[in-house]
Amino acid sequence: MSAKQIELTYRRVVEFEQAATNYRPLACPTCRVGVFDDMKFCPLCGTAVTGAKALSSHLRFALDRMTARLKAALQEIREATEDVNNDHWHQLEGGVIDQDKEGRFRITHDKLKERVKKQRQMLNETKVKIEPYYAAAMPKDIDYSFLEAFRGIVILSSEVDRIFATREAAMLAASGDSEMKLRQEEDEGPITAEETVLAEAASVS
Ligand SMILES: [Zn+2]
Repeated sequence: MSAKQIELTYRRVVEFEQAATNYRPLACPTCRVGVFDDMKFCPLCGTAVTGAKALSSHLRFALDRMTARLKAALQEIREATEDVNNDHWHQLEGGVIDQDKEGRFRITHDKLKERVKKQRQMLNETKVKIEPYYAAAMPKDIDYSFLEAFRGIVILSSEVDRIFATREAAMLAASGDSEMKLRQEEDEGPITAEETVLAEAASVS
């Protein structure tokens, strides 16, 4: 499925790229460590891992497509970061960059603070236009942090909200069930003083 172009801040591009790189489609059934979908065995404990590929192939495909589409944007971000860095090194007379004995560029405290501020501003405010690619299917147990990082880029934002709502409903239903069970157990327990005495007598004998 293709879609109209969306605008992403540099920060969102970087966050997406990191999440796409770190995303593992499933956890090892034995030690729960993340496992890539092309692995046959868990890298940590050696447990055989099967069936991962089919589950996650739609998402992996979408992630790979978007990583390719964002390649130019990532290069742009790297270059812009270099420019900001180069604007802030301490300069000697004649514009020569000040270096320490090991040849590392030096920076003053004020310039360092200014540089960090400029970098933050650049990441938060500069935007790129990109065509998203929405995955045809999503693995069921995907983490919240990944869903947020992938939001609007490989998953429709409304779909992420729907997944969150479904999980919340399931969680509430599950906790509702256990509350009911507790109440039932209480109901079955002794309620009058006489019954309490009888129950205590029964438990002693
Ligand atoms: Zn394992």
